[in-house]
Amino acid sequence: MNTRIYINGHWQTGVGEVENRNPSDLSDVIGHYAQAGRDQLDEALSAARAAQPVWWAAGIQKRHDVLMAIGTEMMARAAEIGAMVAREEGKPLAEGKGEVFRAGQFFTYFAAEVLRNQGDLAESVRPGVEIDVRREPVGVVAVISPWNFPIATPAWKIAPALAFGNAVIWKPANLTPASAVLLTEIIAKQDIPAGLFNLVSGSGRDIGQRLVESRQIDAISFTGSVPVGRGIAAAAVTNMTKVQMEMGSKNPMIILADCDLDLAVAHAAGAAFGATGQKCTAASRLIVEDSIHDAFVEKLVAAARAYRVGHALEEGTQIGPVVSEAQLAQNLDYIKVGQAEGAELLCGGTRLERPTEGYYMAPAVFAGTRNDMRINREEMFAPITSVIRASGYGEALSIANDSEFGLTAGIMTRSLAKASHFRANMRAGCVMVNLPTAGTDYHVPFGGRGASSFGPREQGRYAAEFYTSVKTAYVAAGSPE
Ligand code: NDP
Repeated sequence: MNTRIYINGHWQTGVGEVENRNPSDLSDVIGHYAQAGRDQLDEALSAARAAQPVWWAAGIQKRHDVLMAIGTEMMARAAEIGAMVAREEGKPLAEGKGEVFRAGQFFTYFAAEVLRNQGDLAESVRPGVEIDVRREPVGVVAVISPWNFPIATPAWKIAPALAFGNAVIWKPANLTPASAVLLTEIIAKQDIPAGLFNLVSGSGRDIGQRLVESRQIDAISFTGSVPVGRGIAAAAVTNMTKVQMEMGSKNPMIILADCDLDLAVAHAAGAAFGATGQKCTAASRLIVEDSIHDAFVEKLVAAARAYRVGHALEEGTQIGPVVSEAQLAQNLDYIKVGQAEGAELLCGGTRLERPTEGYYMAPAVFAGTRNDMRINREEMFAPITSVIRASGYGEALSIANDSEFGLTAGIMTRSLAKASHFRANMRAGCVMVNLPTAGTDYHVPFGGRGASSFGPREQGRYAAEFYTSVKTAYVAAGSPE
């Protein structure tokens, strides 16, 4: 199968292709996927520029209906598309279906937001002058998305972009091209202007870089790694392009002596190992109060060992493979780094064999770790978690806050006083009390602090800040005579 890219309302062949293999079964070649050439990117940019005002002029009922149709179809086809997400990315089938359904909800949510795009009226300090403040589209938005949520992440960017009247150029991750084609097919069948939405697949270093450096885009929404994010921010500043970035993290979870221990273990394990640890919200630093440390660690190791690691499409699989050979090699390298730093590997951390050859890895727990170790400073994106011992809440909070990142953070406690203090004093974009660090809603803002995020928040009504430009109008109506 040679699939195509979608530019200016037409499916086109690319100038090259990438092979897409199933990480659960390396003998399963999903297909060969087109790579856009530079001329094709340029065509997409011009087409988007021309289509955007037409879309904006089409009005709110039209935009609402299109977004609702996309979201409704995604939810109806969650099982079928979710199976492809599981096949090419490696997350278990149930998670793949859940992701596609959630992606549909982003579209239906923003369909409703279209109708809520109301401005403000203000009185002027000058008599006879009226002021109104409106939100207008920012223009052409470049969406650059990663492989770990190949449908949900682009959905939470593309849906608000279209809702607020913008055109979109989407550069998906090259590791998950099939999901990108399926989402594009649903968008392409809508009655929208040619060029409003473009799928420009290609490598990040080539097409991605050219896209972010283009002066023909007005805004960039990126999710991915910190180094790539820094490069994109630099390109955006040079061109004065609006930018929004969601990057890595090193999410802490504080486990206090007064918590429900079994619940803490379940939430910590789920947040650390779910999606094979390949989540920016994964719990990677478990900061445990001294008096329950040993009991917690014993139960956590038992939970890690009990996970069924296997083929993403197989019934009963709880953890699928790692996404790629490079990611697996990096994970195994971090196991060596942790051991060399003096951390104690209590379980997992090895490659596993399964009936089909794939990138399987046993979930790993490190204990006896310090917060200054590399395994506690760098995002690993792996089924690896570290336990850090703390004397009490005060020390736990200061360890939790000692990080360049600040996306999500959790606390497990029955103390209202400590939970409230944590909520107010934890430097993170999202704080969770008696909940896992991973797992967020679709109608409220998502983002972090420090190196985790840059620019306006994503999702919920806060998304308007990035996808629109505010215009203040002053009107002197004059006298009727
Ligand atoms: P990257 O940051 O390299 O990739 C994210 C997206 O950016 C992809 O679409 C990629 O394209 C694109 N890209 C890469 N280079 C450029 C560039 N110069 N200009 C424009 N776009 C570019 O992440 P990786 O997928 O390589 O993963 C590496 C690490 O990043 C992971 O191990 C993890 O630590 C972190 N990560 C964090 C995520 C998060 O949600 N916070 C998500 C994914 C990764 P292409 O796929 O073609 O390279």
